[in-house]
Amino acid sequence: MNAFARRGACPALSSPMPTGDGLLVRLNPLAGGFSPASLIALCKAALQHGNGVVEVTARGSLQIRGLTPRSAALLARQVEGLGMVVRTGVPVEHGALAGLDPEEIADPRPLAASIREAARQNGLDQRLGPKVSVVLDGGGHSGLGATAADIRLMARRHCGEISWTFAIAGDARTAKPLAVLPDGRAAQAAIAGLEAVAALGREGRGRDLDARRRARLAALLPPLVGAGSIAPALAGGQRLVPSILPLRGGASALAVAVPFGQMDADGVIGLAARAEEVRASEIRLAPGRIMLALCPADADATALRQEAGRLGFIISPDDPRSGISACPGAPACASGRMPARSLAALIAAAHGDILDGSLGLHVSGCAKGCANPAKAPLALVGGEDGAGLVVDGTARSVPLARVPAEHALNSFGRLAGLIRAERRPGETSAACVARLGTRCLAEAFEKG
Ligand code: SF4
Repeated sequence: MNAFARRGACPALSSPMPTGDGLLVRLNPLAGGFSPASLIALCKAALQHGNGVVEVTARGSLQIRGLTPRSAALLARQVEGLGMVVRTGVPVEHGALAGLDPEEIADPRPLAASIREAARQNGLDQRLGPKVSVVLDGGGHSGLGATAADIRLMARRHCGEISWTFAIAGDARTAKPLAVLPDGRAAQAAIAGLEAVAALGREGRGRDLDARRRARLAALLPPLVGAGSIAPALAGGQRLVPSILPLRGGASALAVAVPFGQMDADGVIGLAARAEEVRASEIRLAPGRIMLALCPADADATALRQEAGRLGFIISPDDPRSGISACPGAPACASGRMPARSLAALIAAAHGDILDGSLGLHVSGCAKGCANPAKAPLALVGGEDGAGLVVDGTARSVPLARVPAEHALNSFGRLAGLIRAERRPGETSAACVARLGTRCLAEAFEKG
């Protein structure tokens, strides 16, 4: 195992990462997606070499768990045998529907290819840490407005001309804009941004570029055209939700979500086999734990959607599982202090009615909060002292109340019962939680 195969590094196929249930590998096909046949073959390899579980991460990568050093090497060889070229080097991400979405502002794929090639030629792949990434948001249905990155470029169209807003560290809402660039200068600017991060050393990130360094970088770029004209571009593209979307040329895409990002390999094989029957050309992965099948027509996407629902995928944005983020937790992860995903599934089944779209829940096996680094309206977090309740905080926040981990479902049930009983006609669950206040919620969770 090389130096990068450590917790916190990116577990690429060539450098698996140790977890509680063996080694984990993460892979992204360079082509953007898998043919149904290659996804079936990959899932069979996951069954043969791993623990038979396939994961789709919040950023839209595929993960296979439960490997040993020997089986990880065999898996890598098998992936190579499938002719699948996986992404290496600095991650340069764009929307899963790039080039296919009639709503997108600009196709970011040529720009992505230029940045990848220039990063490789400049040796940035070796000089940057494994988590440094570039996001190109071309807008449209699969925009990456909610995906954080060290360097982000967001497409804008003005009088028929395409330009890119260049920003540092964050998502579309939080990144710091430095310039608006003509299409022809965007790749060069991204490389200048990556060079500035590389100058901080291998641990450096975009967020570490302080005001002085950002000013030095901005001096290399064309000036901003005015904050007012940047604001719309910073809104970024939408994030995909389970739906059927029209594509260019009369084709359709089916977007389904993988519940809590994890599915038995047999379930994914079932989806890919039906996708093959309806002549879907590709299955792509997207942020939000989305699998996206590119179908010839709307009728094919509709047929595939039915099968996806039967297999347990999330096919509607109203599914309460959509409102919950959960990591694997114990026993899959060695740091897990409670079985986060199985607890999340039980909560969705028993108390999904209170997750009405206004109220998100994060169930985390420990305070690291891998499934959702941001604040959540409600969070259940495993710790040495049991399951903690956090309101409007992250997994690292100090819990308002704690119960033994084995009581977490019952305690959450009391909280759900309180919200159910107190919610006024027309009131959302989030508004009800805010009105009840933290003390009342903590008492219901802890004491009943
Ligand atoms: S948050 Fe979950 S996946 Fe991350 S280290 Fe803790 S238990 Fe493991």
